[in-house]
Amino acid sequence: MKDKSVLHDHLDGGLRPSTIIELAEQSRIELPTTDPQLLEDWFFENISSELNQVFNKFELTISLMQDEESLERIAYEAVEDLTKDGVSKGELRYAPLQHLRGELNPQNVVDSVSRGIKNGMAEFGGNFSSILCAMRQNNDSSQVADLAISNYLNGVVGFDLAGPEYGHPPSKHIEACMKINKSEIGLTIHAGEAANFSYIEDAVSNCKAQRIGHGWQVIEGCVEIGGLFEPNTKAAEYILEEKIPLEICISSNVKSGASDVNKENHPVLKLFKSGFNVTLNPDNRLMASTTLSKEYELAKQEFGLSEDEEDKIIQNTNNSLFENIGY
Ligand SMILES: [Zn+2]
Repeated sequence: MKDKSVLHDHLDGGLRPSTIIELAEQSRIELPTTDPQLLEDWFFENISSELNQVFNKFELTISLMQDEESLERIAYEAVEDLTKDGVSKGELRYAPLQHLRGELNPQNVVDSVSRGIKNGMAEFGGNFSSILCAMRQNNDSSQVADLAISNYLNGVVGFDLAGPEYGHPPSKHIEACMKINKSEIGLTIHAGEAANFSYIEDAVSNCKAQRIGHGWQVIEGCVEIGGLFEPNTKAAEYILEEKIPLEICISSNVKSGASDVNKENHPVLKLFKSGFNVTLNPDNRLMASTTLSKEYELAKQEFGLSEDEEDKIIQNTNNSLFENIGY
């Protein structure tokens, strides 16, 4: 198995069904089923973000992540599951302000996740850090940015904007992005997953994002000539020239229902062949029913990714990690 890295993996989207069942029992939260396989299927089915179904599933996982033990356990298990899948370096992301319904304050949340990651690394090896997400529909992104910056020595390497895209363009959070740009923390922004190219333009041009979450809709800023994408907009040209990493998540893009992309027409390989800095990621291992190795397998089977191309994408991903100075 080749040694891989992961840039885009949501902690609240990667829980084990068996852990969900145990934690729900402890906190008396009702589940649609307590059969692990049926529960896994339930998470995989009906995840259209248009219908907000995907956010309802996150609502369930997040409701189980409201105390130190649960957060620590979920982070620890994520490190275990990733390392066993051949991932030796990675960044796990979560939105700390979504975990304050119990007794925790934002710093407790970050400390719990960092402790889980550290303990996971001590047990299973690897080098993992975290990215703090601000939810773009809320008005507290500056607070999350401050939290990320003050936890740079506590395993936090990045800041992200997540949540429903439409109506919440990146520059709505320009203040938080500017804070991050002045700090050691890396800036990645979900853009062009559900929403159109203008959100990608906004992320790179106004917010100066260093990486783009998903971002495959950069093709709207290009013309297709002979199966390759050539930029015909300034933003797409910048993304190509500056090698801005695109955190592509094939299964999740296909499954989320956020766009009409499917396994047959996903532009991942064409983008790669056109020279874009394509990286592969699982996004939500539970909701997209995937792993990083499954994503590479999918790219081989569906798009004919060659061994050399696989090596290059692994290298791209590895080179696109934010700097992890440790804990
Ligand atoms: Zn994501």
